[in-house]
Amino acid sequence: MTHVFHRHCHAKLPSIASGEGVYLFDTEGKQYLDGCGGAAVSNLGHNHTAVKDAIKQQLDAIPFAHTGFFTNQVSEDLATLLTDLAPNPLNHVYFVSGGSEAVESALKMARQYFVEIGKPQKTQFIARRQSYHGNTLGALAVGGNEWRKEPFRPLLSSVHHISPCYAYRDQGDNETELDYSMRVANELETKILEVGADNVMAFVAEPVVGATTGAVPATEGYFKRIREICDQYDVLLILDEVMCGIGRTGTFYAFEQDKIIPDLVTIAKGLGAGYQPIGAVVASSKIYDAIANGSGFFQHGHTFMAHPMACASALATINTILNEHLLDKVTEQGEKLKNKLEVALQPLPYVGDIRGRGLFLGVELVADKLTKTPLASSTEANKKVKNIAMQHGLMCYPMAGTIDGKQGHHILIAPPFIINDEQLDELVTKLTSALIEAAKAWG
Ligand code: PLP
Repeated sequence: MTHVFHRHCHAKLPSIASGEGVYLFDTEGKQYLDGCGGAAVSNLGHNHTAVKDAIKQQLDAIPFAHTGFFTNQVSEDLATLLTDLAPNPLNHVYFVSGGSEAVESALKMARQYFVEIGKPQKTQFIARRQSYHGNTLGALAVGGNEWRKEPFRPLLSSVHHISPCYAYRDQGDNETELDYSMRVANELETKILEVGADNVMAFVAEPVVGATTGAVPATEGYFKRIREICDQYDVLLILDEVMCGIGRTGTFYAFEQDKIIPDLVTIAKGLGAGYQPIGAVVASSKIYDAIANGSGFFQHGHTFMAHPMACASALATINTILNEHLLDKVTEQGEKLKNKLEVALQPLPYVGDIRGRGLFLGVELVADKLTKTPLASSTEANKKVKNIAMQHGLMCYPMAGTIDGKQGHHILIAPPFIINDEQLDELVTKLTSALIEAAKAWG
């Protein structure tokens, strides 16, 4: 009997006891290799002394003081570090407690910016099908995953959606990568013109699409064209790096690899590496100045924003990433992992695509490699892979609905940045045997 209202009412979950490095241990003593950081969260593994010490020190100094009354040094230091790591003009950080709160804050910031500069008629968001931006009502509305939205649709504000940048499925045989990038990016211009440039506030996208599509990066030139279109029509660019940011793809901000600068960036998950819940919006000076020189305050706020314990964990996390040169390690181990996955999984008849950047990788499952026909939804391949992998002592993050929110299956792999070569081998061996066993079960 449990009084916890769990995610799934009928799931029987093991109970967690402890963690060490890339491993977790349940109360029965079973060991699990964390191949997905939970959901791309535990970037430093599960018992990092520097982060734990920073949290303890903050607890002894002051655990909480409401931001309506005080600032706190650790949030000031964290904001300075996050903006030092970002290109100009991303100079201001608004702290919240998680990814959905960060997205909600960014959406409202975009709206208030246009109210402040005298363009209140701008009320519309454009986003992409098959992205996930969180589960609160605003974030769910901009998200493009049909299955997650369906029961709540009457409660969601209307948001316009364009195609994802998903070359494996959509790039034509006779289309170059750049032509493909232009074709899908130009859908934004078409949509802006359809809705009316005077009405559109912002375009929202994940630089590397995570949970819903399985680590799909944009193709060459896509985001440069998106940036151009946003500039041309006075539309803000909001990049959601809740999952792919904070080094997960090998650069501190994922957008660095697309060689553009957004107006607002949302971050969470890896920001506190799971040691504390924290999220943030990094905002450009243009937006901050409009609000600071206008009404003087952002009409938003949460009780736990800039929480000292959360900021202490994030500050220690980022300092650890920098001090231990973990961005280089992500790139290095990410390449090794991708190669190992290709060698082990590509020969399997139901592995269609292996993709991603850094230690943020996705494996798309298919019924037929040549035609890319998805596995039937009734196979429940995602559930089978997850359960069998757990029996094998591996956490991975499989999902269904890869293609359109209903069809398709993928497995997301996002291990802690500290994973070593031997552990990469263990991950690949366990994933391969779990997949083979699951495939027998789905027939
Ligand atoms: N945005 C993206 C890209 C995400 O992947 C997620 C969570 O998976 C969110 C937002 C929501 O974050 P949270 O679950 O912390 O509310």
